[in-house]
Amino acid sequence: MTAALCLAAKGFAVSVFEAAPAFGEIGAGIQLSPNCTRVLHRLGLADTLEAVAFLPVGGQVRDWSSGGIIHEVELGDGLRRHYGYPYYHIHRADLIGALAETAAAEPGIALHTGAEVSRIEQSADGVSLTAGGTRYRGRALIGADGIHSTVRSFLFGPEAPRFTGTVAWRGLVPAARLPEGFVRPVSSNWLGPGGHVVHYYVRRGALVNCVLVIEKQGWERESWTERGDIEELKADFAGWHEGVRRLIGAMDPAACYKWALFDRPPMRRWGRGRVTLLGDACHATLPFMAQGAAMAIEDGAVLAACLAAGGDVAASLRRYEGLRRARTARIQTGSRRNAEVFHMRGEAAVERNRTLGASRRRTLDWLYRYDAFDLEAAEAMAAGATPDLC
Ligand SMILES: Cc1cc2nc3c(=O)[nH]c(=O)nc-3n(C[C@H](O)[C@H](O)[C@H](O)COP(=O)(O)OP(=O)(O)OC[C@H]3O[C@@H](n4cnc5c(N)ncnc54)[C@H](O)[C@@H]3O)c2cc1C
Repeated sequence: MTAALCLAAKGFAVSVFEAAPAFGEIGAGIQLSPNCTRVLHRLGLADTLEAVAFLPVGGQVRDWSSGGIIHEVELGDGLRRHYGYPYYHIHRADLIGALAETAAAEPGIALHTGAEVSRIEQSADGVSLTAGGTRYRGRALIGADGIHSTVRSFLFGPEAPRFTGTVAWRGLVPAARLPEGFVRPVSSNWLGPGGHVVHYYVRRGALVNCVLVIEKQGWERESWTERGDIEELKADFAGWHEGVRRLIGAMDPAACYKWALFDRPPMRRWGRGRVTLLGDACHATLPFMAQGAAMAIEDGAVLAACLAAGGDVAASLRRYEGLRRARTARIQTGSRRNAEVFHMRGEAAVERNRTLGASRRRTLDWLYRYDAFDLEAAEAMAAGATPDLC
């Protein structure tokens, strides 16, 4: 959707094909850092997002057992002043709603729902596909169709993503169910042996979004709507600090979801001819740096800038891929490494706690200062050194 808005802003006519019957998302939150709010604000979404998001004052990494703060960073006004754009905690439905509403009002964008894409063909002068029983033709095809991408299979053949051995429990807790001040106005990340827990407010503080990750084998369903048994969740986090256990206790058992985490290794190629990929379709990323959607949003801006620069369509798509591959691969591997770092035990965890601050500050600066509208800077970054991410 962001790619469609960026392309329309450059004067392209865009058709969006969504397999689901409507644009929407089930209940869960998402963190949006300045590198992607920069893109969303430049698309004119600042007021809409500000009206529904929660603005955290900071991010805290805490110990699973004592609750002590291992490390904290500024995510409030100081961050906004430094990078020029805010950090949001937002309900996914609110983000998708804002994007879909803006796209629906844009004359250059045609939205098709209930339109599952199949039968893709390309020739030297165009691409065609079938969606919802109708055949469409265009100058380029961008496969932004997620980790199980049909377009990716068309380009490179089927290949299953890998199960990471971790499962994420997810739920939303009404803030009114918790004592006042029990949840701080920050993004909290509790690190423990074999698991970690992230929570933060969404909907201007009305709800607390919780993601509880645990190493677990033998259960590999990937679905936003798979309900989990809250007793199993309680057992998974039985020995954890009261700050985690009370949150689980306040969850609605009927709205507690379970999600097996999959990813893919970085790809060497994202496209062929007039077809390319974007977002999880080409760089499915574990959520342990909270950057998967941010990368898809950045992709959209870079892609539009490359196509708008003119010239051969296929060459423009290869330029976009070249500008994006190194950064997204870094984040894929960094997120995967965070699964190990977050879940360390014993002496390794003590050493991690000692060194986390410095490496995290470098990583966040590298992530947040990226300007997806500045192709020269993107080119310099694609060529330059990047820190080890954490
Ligand atoms: C627990 C969890 C927490 C996360 N937290 C964060 C976070 O805080 N910040 C962040 O930046 N990222 C986060 N992420 C990652 C983020 O959710 C994904 O990276 C992001 O949703 C990827 O967006 P996408 O548009 O590429 O793919 P998707 O969101 O998967 O969207 C793909 C769309 O394509 C449609 N589709 C699929 N096949 C077809 C077809 N054949 N025809 C038509 N339509 C099709 C699907 O219906 C879907 O709407 C998190 C992920 C998880 C699992």
